[in-house]
Amino acid sequence: MASNASVKRALLLVDIDGTLLRVHRHVTRHVWSETWSVVVGGELPWHRLDSAAGKTDLQILAQLLGDVYTARVLARDFFSVLASHAERAITRDAIELCPGATDFLEAAERSGAVLAILSGNETRIGWHKLRVAGLDSYFVAGFFGGDAIERAELPPRALQWAMSQQYLSQGAWVIVVGDTPNDIACARRYGLGCLAVASGPYSFDELTVHQPMACFRHLGQAALSLHRFLPTHPMARQPIIAIDGPAGSGKTTTARLLAERLGFTYIDTGAMYRALTLAALEHGVPMNDEALAALLERTSIELRHTPQGQRTYLDGRDVTERIRMPDVTAHVSQVSSFPSVRAAMVRIQQQLGARGGVVMDGRDIGTAVFPDADVKVYMTADLATRAERRLEELRATDPTLTLDDVIRQLDERDQLDSSREHNPLRRAEDAIVIDTTNLSIEEQVERIARYIRERVVESSTTLP
Ligand code: C5P
Repeated sequence: MASNASVKRALLLVDIDGTLLRVHRHVTRHVWSETWSVVVGGELPWHRLDSAAGKTDLQILAQLLGDVYTARVLARDFFSVLASHAERAITRDAIELCPGATDFLEAAERSGAVLAILSGNETRIGWHKLRVAGLDSYFVAGFFGGDAIERAELPPRALQWAMSQQYLSQGAWVIVVGDTPNDIACARRYGLGCLAVASGPYSFDELTVHQPMACFRHLGQAALSLHRFLPTHPMARQPIIAIDGPAGSGKTTTARLLAERLGFTYIDTGAMYRALTLAALEHGVPMNDEALAALLERTSIELRHTPQGQRTYLDGRDVTERIRMPDVTAHVSQVSSFPSVRAAMVRIQQQLGARGGVVMDGRDIGTAVFPDADVKVYMTADLATRAERRLEELRATDPTLTLDDVIRQLDERDQLDSSREHNPLRRAEDAIVIDTTNLSIEEQVERIARYIRERVVESSTTLP
């Protein structure tokens, strides 16, 4: 199987209080009261707080003060004192682990999931509780509520971070684990899964009405069936099929037909580089890294899927045919050689394919865009055959073109594409090579489809 077993495809965002552990109520109250008397003065008005469950620390402070603005102004000083008090008062004796917390974290780790904290706690206090409970080492990151007025502000931060992690960016499943309706609501708002545990102030029945993905009495129970919710096998996200190769090797037609046959989305990355090249030519943008990267920032390039197939739009204009014209072809390899252009394009392409179910063709899909694609194909054909195919396509627009001209152009583009410093055209080590010199399009598609069946579909039936 081409898919890499070490690639982590699930991110669990775990709440702290009521989910992993409980801090004795009188200790928490004491820490808050002490801080209040130092920073605000007087008695802390507990009657203003209906409940702290599922809230962020900033939200609690705002409710106690009766005003969000003052809470924001005061937050820095208040939480600095609060954290110092907490670090002194919250000792191991003041903490009780929720049943099954360690079993759950162990099970999650064994299944290859990545664990991060999503908690309403102020950052220092959250980490302190975890450290004292001996749970901090399970988590690679934390997203905390000392500066968020609502819990719902936290998942976007976690998702943004996940997108920047190579091992999570490709369609990872993200699941919130928490003990309150607020946890369930903030997961739902971003289309994330949620496992609810009734180890906090809410009962099993009270949580179930909010319809989490699953509800458990405690984390020990969740540990036993965690595998059912994690995409630990290769079909959990739809496969990504990467097709690379030089111009004229048959990639585009094959990739398009293959996507149709599989019901996948076809993404022609060459069209994206071509559209940017056209924009540069039309606006007279100098051919350098900075200018082209800036142009890409202000340019909209879309691949739209229509009944007539994939169409390429540049700033809302259909340029599908225009980007195949000789002026664009003559400059595209130069435009695509610049590092900032490539970095931005690769990022866009990773986002387009993140959910899987795509056939993507280009020069660097199996090596740079999706290095852990489920299936990688490298298509080649000898130069004369590729040139003949290209000539046939181009004759309609330019009847004066000769085979020699096309050979020269293809050769030049191949040289540029394979010798550039950043993400050059090359075969990924784990790609199968299909030489299409003597194959018809149908044969090419059939060969790859058979390979996909063997690699992805059949191997997955042996997995749980
Ligand atoms: O596939 P197509 O011929 O349309 O690609 C046009 C050009 O875009 C290529 O010659 C190459 O310079 C560039 N390209 C790239 N990386 C990709 C796809 C295309 O550099 N993934």
